[in-house]
Amino acid sequence: MLKRRELAAFRKQLLAWFRQFQRDLPWRRTRDPYCVWLSEIMLQQTRVAAVIPYYEHFLERFPNLHALAAAPEEEVLRLWSGLGYYSRARNLQKAAQQIVAEHGGEFPARLEDVLALPGIGNYTARAILSIAFEKKHAVLDGNVARVLARLGAIRGDLRASQQWQKLQKSADAYLDGKSPGDWNQAMMELGATLCAPRSPQCLLCPVAQFCEARKRSIVDLLPEKRQKRATVEIHLAAAVFADEQDRTLLLPPPKERNAEPLVDHVPTLASNLWHFPTIPVDGDPLAKLRSHLRKLEIQKQNGVFHFVPANKVRHTVTYRAITVQPFRISVKKLPRLKGAERVPLQEVTILPVSNLTQKVARAALAAAPSAEKNCEPIAEKLEKADSSVCPE
Ligand code: SF4
Repeated sequence: MLKRRELAAFRKQLLAWFRQFQRDLPWRRTRDPYCVWLSEIMLQQTRVAAVIPYYEHFLERFPNLHALAAAPEEEVLRLWSGLGYYSRARNLQKAAQQIVAEHGGEFPARLEDVLALPGIGNYTARAILSIAFEKKHAVLDGNVARVLARLGAIRGDLRASQQWQKLQKSADAYLDGKSPGDWNQAMMELGATLCAPRSPQCLLCPVAQFCEARKRSIVDLLPEKRQKRATVEIHLAAAVFADEQDRTLLLPPPKERNAEPLVDHVPTLASNLWHFPTIPVDGDPLAKLRSHLRKLEIQKQNGVFHFVPANKVRHTVTYRAITVQPFRISVKKLPRLKGAERVPLQEVTILPVSNLTQKVARAALAAAPSAEKNCEPIAEKLEKADSSVCPE
């Protein structure tokens, strides 16, 4: 840790740099706790550039906490659609409702009250309180941890519990108590811009003279690599019905569904949003999907189904590598499915849907209807020869 005089110089130099060179971001133009909170939630695991349009659009529709608390959840999710990690949006609204109920609609200014809100952890609570209320709470996230590790030449897995606690103490010790909001943002800004994971720009760094890793020429070695969680491969098949007007069927999130599910539900992968009927598969996806549709006797309603395999869709959610095989299923009339909504295949986003569902819709749209005409019906060895299929 730096000595008193060095610490004062360190703080002065970092704050001066931040105040002069910080990026102009919409949430930095306000100290309104609602806006700061919204930005912090949106920025979790999401890039700044991706967040900006969502943040602005969201605030246009829900300019304050009361508007968010009173909105239909479906609308909140629709505005979040495409940003991913939808539990963030649900928790945001639940927390807004809790603030209205328990704090008269005023964002609480005590750490324990903020931590009691859904979707807010230690980092987010400290960020909101320091930026919006100038409370003396130092933040620690991945960016700040990397900066601290390099400043102090700290080795080992930073995410290990004891190490993380040490880093929090270090962050607390560096905190500038006179400007905790700017200080926290300055540390995060340094980590997000100059002290990047790869090729840090030490020549431009305002605090390079205090950096232990630089002195020891081990900047590129820090932070040390964590053991990565092994990737889990997941294979799914999705049924994309399409009638003659190119309308399709989406199933509701599970809690809203009061009907027999069309197929097994895969909640985490559909992010609890509206989604195409989807099943996990471990062999032939077409056979598995047909088998499910037969079990549900949907084909009895509609007669012949034409299955056209669309291009596979790949999607990654943290350690899960998901591959979806969509099948466009042309029907004269969409089957009846309790709870399902009919939507144009080109506009599935009129309901709250995940990025994965949007990708599946695009793949199904690209499976040209003309290709279906060239498909030879297959005389299946099934009870009824009721399907045709184009080979992949
Ligand atoms: S000198 Fe380099 S490694 Fe050290 S804090 Fe600055 S940017 Fe990071």
